[in-house]
Amino acid sequence: MPELSKLPPSGIKVIIVGAGFGGLCAAIECNRKGHEVILLEKVKQLKPLGDVISFSSNSGHIFERWEGVVDELDPIVHKSTGLDFHDWMGNFATRQEWGDEKQWGRRINGHRGQIHDVVYQHAKARGVDIRLGQTVTDYFETDTEAGVVSNGEKLVADCVFAAEGVKSAGRKIVLGTEDPPKPSGYAVYRSWFNSDDLAKNERTKHLVVNGDTHTGWIGEDKHFLAASVKGGKEFSWVLTHKDDGDIEEDWQFPGNKNEVKKHLVGWAPVVHDIVDATPPDRLFDYKLVFRDPLPTFLSPKARICLIGDAAHPFLPTSIQGASQSMEDGVTLAITLEKAGKADVPLALRAYEAIRYGRVHRAQMTGVTTREQWHKADWNEIWKDTKVLHLKRDAWLLDFDAETHAYEVVDDVLKDLRQGKPVKTDTPPEPEQKNGVQSVIATEVDQLA
Ligand SMILES: Cc1cc2nc3c(=O)[nH]c(=O)nc-3n(C[C@H](O)[C@H](O)[C@H](O)COP(=O)(O)OP(=O)(O)OC[C@H]3O[C@@H](n4cnc5c(N)ncnc54)[C@H](O)[C@@H]3O)c2cc1C
Repeated sequence: MPELSKLPPSGIKVIIVGAGFGGLCAAIECNRKGHEVILLEKVKQLKPLGDVISFSSNSGHIFERWEGVVDELDPIVHKSTGLDFHDWMGNFATRQEWGDEKQWGRRINGHRGQIHDVVYQHAKARGVDIRLGQTVTDYFETDTEAGVVSNGEKLVADCVFAAEGVKSAGRKIVLGTEDPPKPSGYAVYRSWFNSDDLAKNERTKHLVVNGDTHTGWIGEDKHFLAASVKGGKEFSWVLTHKDDGDIEEDWQFPGNKNEVKKHLVGWAPVVHDIVDATPPDRLFDYKLVFRDPLPTFLSPKARICLIGDAAHPFLPTSIQGASQSMEDGVTLAITLEKAGKADVPLALRAYEAIRYGRVHRAQMTGVTTREQWHKADWNEIWKDTKVLHLKRDAWLLDFDAETHAYEVVDDVLKDLRQGKPVKTDTPPEPEQKNGVQSVIATEVDQLA
């Protein structure tokens, strides 16, 4: 086990609710900066569930600072160098190479549950006080402390981070009213399974027998993405489609192959073969829910803050939700370090000032990517197939949250202390003013 770096104790006590990537990362980062953490998670036992998740170079820097973690991840992460796009009938359109982005940092794509377990083990190795089977039912704050009620017990600290995900009950403390998640109008079928059967099929074997591949088929109002991992030994796919049913908002809602195939009439035989090869118990249907952007991430006394999806849920097409939830924790650990125990509410305000503009700008990319694919005019695409490429913005991806937070935190704290309005970082470009609100509102309105 490599030596784990840690700043001297700050005396600051933090309670974090939720051990997803947002909460776990915040816990590790607070531990690195010398803060004392209790991490509460309602699940009794963390199992390596789920399927594919992608972390971009902006969060690659965060993983790299956690001693030993990228070495643990290396054997289990996806290793293809590009993404091959086809139209829905299977005609090859273009390949997007990732080589140019190498200088921006490490990308980490793999099985959500397996990556989560590596991060969880790192948090444990750091000595983070992780308490499983703890359901938080209430939050409270005074001028001097904040706390939660968990399994009926009152726990108190200097501040609380609510990292409960998209269905966060903690949002109520910010809004003052209930704010149920809204359907986004889309749902995803998802799967992850052993690729042995695909290797035996002439039409699918090229996807798995020569190492990892990443392939997309794009059609009207749907897209199908497939990736092989671990040298082609394991395989995952996702089909994003219009949500016309009344499925439950549950990660584990079982999918039905016949229903999947109804969405794929006229699609390439290879896509049908992939679906046919999917073990029924490895197919899930997941409704994509959304929330309107919040005016603030902070409670009235600024001792409780929302982080991750609780503050800003992401559509999968942004490929940023988990990365952005990790940037939140990195930033908070640093604003607390710099503001100190006497100024905890100021630290939380600085977190919001540093994160608010950037995270909402990132959130918009989920809608624009999906629209770029689903509303594609193929007559135009064949003239320049590169328009299918995922937008790779340097402002988003060539970014190190820790370096950035250290660069700006002193000025932000100074402005806040002087009562000056603090510019939110990376504000939306002029033509996108109110863009998040209007894009997301449009998205939700379309469903009504
Ligand atoms: C289908 C899908 C695919 C996605 N793919 C990607 C991707 O490829 N790349 C990417 O970056 N993002 C992706 N995202 C988004 C990403 O998964 C989320 O943005 C990210 O996981 C948010 O992490 P979180 O920690 O904020 O929330 P969560 O991961 O939801 O974690 C919340 C945790 O809080 C716990 N909890 C909830 N309430 C309580 C309570 N009252 N008490 C105690 N514990 C509680 C929950 O059990 C859970 O463990 C995807 C999202 C979806 C829906």
